[in-house]
Amino acid sequence: MKERFLGVEVCTENYEELSAHLLNDINEGRKSFIVAINPEKVVKAQHDPALRDLLNQATYQIPDGIGIILASKLKKGQISERVTGIDMMLRLCRLAAENNKSVFLYGAKPGIAAEAKTKLQEMFPGLHVAGVLDGYEKDEAKIVRTINNAAPDIIFVALGSPRQENWIIDHMNQLAPKVYQGVGGSFDVISGRIKRAPAGFQKLGLEWFYRLMKEPWRLKRQMDLPKFLMAVLRDKSR
Ligand code: UDP
Repeated sequence: MKERFLGVEVCTENYEELSAHLLNDINEGRKSFIVAINPEKVVKAQHDPALRDLLNQATYQIPDGIGIILASKLKKGQISERVTGIDMMLRLCRLAAENNKSVFLYGAKPGIAAEAKTKLQEMFPGLHVAGVLDGYEKDEAKIVRTINNAAPDIIFVALGSPRQENWIIDHMNQLAPKVYQGVGGSFDVISGRIKRAPAGFQKLGLEWFYRLMKEPWRLKRQMDLPKFLMAVLRDKSR
């Protein structure tokens, strides 16, 4: 099911439900595209119809960020749990390891995807990583060939947003993978190059606060949250 915030659709499903859908998609040969939605993207999409259409074209828009949960509560919606891009990626890796599916890591600076691959295989023994490719390769034909030769079931695309979403929409028809997820800076985090907030902060939904302490220049972006919530409340369309 989906809810709509300022014209942008968001799925109501949690990790388990989404994982079940995605495994079905793979087994039945359907292509699907996962995009993470946060208030920042919704606000941007309000002034950028092309971005809004792009986000709405995804199969699954996951509620990444506490702001979306609050917006759903304000509208008496059903979204109760955050589904973050990186955690969805990790769930998909576990799903792949348990169901004999393969993954591909495309994006980030040279060397990072390979480091992330090693870390993922430590976390999920038996995970088949069909290939990796950095996000600075310019040769389009080579990118397509590398991915199709590896023929993975799932591809994680880490080129930053909205570049990765555009890339997915433009290429998914000619590519072998069934599941496409844009994962932003996740390979940098998984490889250990960038630290995530401690588990306690994550559990309390306070990852934003930890990031704010580490990167105070995010304040401006985070101040937009009340504005976003007000706009959601005022929006009468469905
Ligand atoms: N990146 C890339 N190719 C590019 C530009 C960026 O692979 O041409 C990678 C970059 O190395 C980083 C990720 O894209 O790993 C962007 O991460 P960021 O956290 O900025 O993305 P966000 O999650 O904010 O969209």
